[in-house]
Amino acid sequence: MSQQSPAPAGSGAGRAEAGSAEGGCLCGAVRYRVPLPPLWVAHCHCSMCRRAQGAGYVTWVGTDGERFALISPADTLRQYESSPGATRSFCSRCGTPLFFESKRWPGELHVTLASLDPAVAATLHPQMHAYWSSRAPWIEVGDDLPRGDPPDHG
Ligand SMILES: [Zn+2]
Ligand SMILES: [Zn+2]
Repeated sequence: MSQQSPAPAGSGAGRAEAGSAEGGCLCGAVRYRVPLPPLWVAHCHCSMCRRAQGAGYVTWVGTDGERFALISPADTLRQYESSPGATRSFCSRCGTPLFFESKRWPGELHVTLASLDPAVAATLHPQMHAYWSSRAPWIEVGDDLPRGDPPDHG
């Protein structure tokens, strides 16, 4: 609940720098930094995200790809082209889904909200349910966020 920002005890210079957030995979091999505030935050109900992440739906954070940075060697980071012009990145050691990029959203890099550090993730609020008509029939959503169907994203 505190609004103060204690000096970070991290080793690397620039850790917790203003206007950015860090995240990473479950095993810790992949760590990244993205700029804040994000461009948008949205739940995706498309069938490809559902299967790729093994989840009912996936919450993505849209960020400026130019200002995205990997902050660990990330030997385990792998990319998969899930449809032409669209790639999904994950850690090959622990399987954590991390990033999505597509020529449909040039210049953007999308990161999974769940892979951001929890203290930061808690401050980001999803704005909509995307690909609502593709949602899993076993998902019940109780919020009143807008629901829509942008073009397929792959
Ligand atoms: Zn990992
Ligand atoms: Zn999706």
